[in-house]
Amino acid sequence: MRSTESLIAADRRHLWHPFTQQLTWGEEDPVLVIERGEGSQLFDRDGRAYIDGVASLWCNVHGHRHPALDRAVREQLDRIAHSTMLGLTHAPAIELAERLAALAPGGLSRVFYSDSGSTAVEIALKLAFQWWAQRGAGERRRFICLRDAYHGDTLGAVSVGGIELFHSLYGPLLFDALPACAGDAGHLAELLERHAGEVAAVIVEPLVQGAAGMLLQPPGYLRRVRELCDAHDVLLICDEVATGFGRTGRMFACEHEDVVPDLLCLGKGLTGGYLPLAATLATERLYEGFLGRPEQSRTFFHGHTYTGNPLACAVALATLETFERERTLERLAPKIELLERALADEVAVLPAVAEIRQRGFMVGIELGGFAPEARAGHRVAMAARELGAIVRPLGDVVVLMPPLAISVQELGRLVSITAAAIERVAARPPAAAALQAL
Ligand code: PLP
Repeated sequence: MRSTESLIAADRRHLWHPFTQQLTWGEEDPVLVIERGEGSQLFDRDGRAYIDGVASLWCNVHGHRHPALDRAVREQLDRIAHSTMLGLTHAPAIELAERLAALAPGGLSRVFYSDSGSTAVEIALKLAFQWWAQRGAGERRRFICLRDAYHGDTLGAVSVGGIELFHSLYGPLLFDALPACAGDAGHLAELLERHAGEVAAVIVEPLVQGAAGMLLQPPGYLRRVRELCDAHDVLLICDEVATGFGRTGRMFACEHEDVVPDLLCLGKGLTGGYLPLAATLATERLYEGFLGRPEQSRTFFHGHTYTGNPLACAVALATLETFERERTLERLAPKIELLERALADEVAVLPAVAEIRQRGFMVGIELGGFAPEARAGHRVAMAARELGAIVRPLGDVVVLMPPLAISVQELGRLVSITAAAIERVAARPPAAAALQAL
C-alpha cells in the first residue's frame, strides 16, 4: 500500500482543493487522508475513527456504506454505469422522477436532472427566465434573492448569492439581482411593489440560510413570500439543496409552511451522499410553457453529459426507499430534541459561545469574543478533529450537520467533542506570533 506520506506529498504537488488557500494547505494543519467510512464514522489510514459531524458536506443521510445503497450501486453497475438522456431514457431516471414527483410538495410533477446543487439552481433561473420570455413577457428577467444567500458557485448561482467573501470579486461577471432582507416580508413586499413587472422569480433558501451561518427565518416568513409572489404574479424558486431530504425534520423545508414553489432545487442528500446528482422540479404550468413544435424553439436547450446518470439515479431511489423502510424521519424527531437539549446543556453555557441556531439537524454555533484573525472557528474544527470528530466552520460559526442516521450515542459524543473543542480554543488563545502567521 502506498504510504500516507507519499500520498500527501502528491496531493500537495497536484491537487487544488475547493475553498482552500493552497499556500498554507497542509502546513498549518496536518492533512487527514480518509480511507473508508462506516455508518456515521470516517476512518483515516491509521484506522483512527472520526464522527462525520458535517455529513461529508451536508449530504450523507443514511450513513456511509449502507448495505441497501451499496447494493443499489452494485446492481446498477452490473447493467450499465452511464447512458445519455439526450434522445434515450432509462428505468432508474424514470422511476426516480416518478418517486420525486410523488414525494415533493403537491404539483411539482416535472423533474429535470443535473449534477450539483449549483446546476440545479442555474436550471431553475434559466427556466424561469425562458418561461416568461415565451409568454411574451421578456421584460421579466430580473431575480429577487435574499441578502447573504448562497446558491452555489457557478455564475448564475453567484449572481443570486450574497456572501461578500465568496462573491464580491466576480461582480463584473454577474447579472444584477435585487437583494431582499432575509426574514423581512415587508422589505420583499416593497421590492415587489417597485419591480414586479420586471421580476421573473424570487429565489430563497427556505427556513434556513445554510452557508450564511445557519441563519433562521421567522415562522410564517416563507408562507408570506409565497403569498407575495402570488399577489405579484412572480415565480417562486425554493432552493432546498441544503434543507431537503429531512434536514429540517420534514422531507422538505417547504412542508413546514405548506408552501409549494414553482421550482424546487434538490441536490446533496438526494443520493444519500453517494453520487453527484441534482434535480430541478417544476410545476405542470411551468412545463407547459415550454411545449411547442420543434420549429417554434420553445425547447429548453440545456443539459449535461451526466444528466440523469443511471448509477446516481439508482442510489437515489435506494435512498428514498430507505427513508420509508427505516422510518428515518420518525426516528429523527427524538434525535432533534436530544440535540437541542445537549447543545443547551453543554455548548450554550460556554462563555465563548454567543448564540446557537438550530433547525432540525442543521446547527450553527456562533462563537463570540474572538478577533477574526484568530480564526477561532477553524481552530475549533482542528481541536474537534484531534478529539475524534470532523466539523467545519463557516467563519466563526461552527456547523453541525450529522447524517440523519447517526446513533443517539454518537450524537451525544459529537456535541461533547464540540464543547470540549470550543473550551480548548477559548483556554488557549493563539500566541501573538502565531496569530500573525495565520
Ligand atoms: N444551494 C444551497 C442552498 C447550498 O447550500 C449549496 C451548497 O452548499 C448549493 C446550492 C450548491 O450545491 P453544490 O455544492 O452541490 O453545487
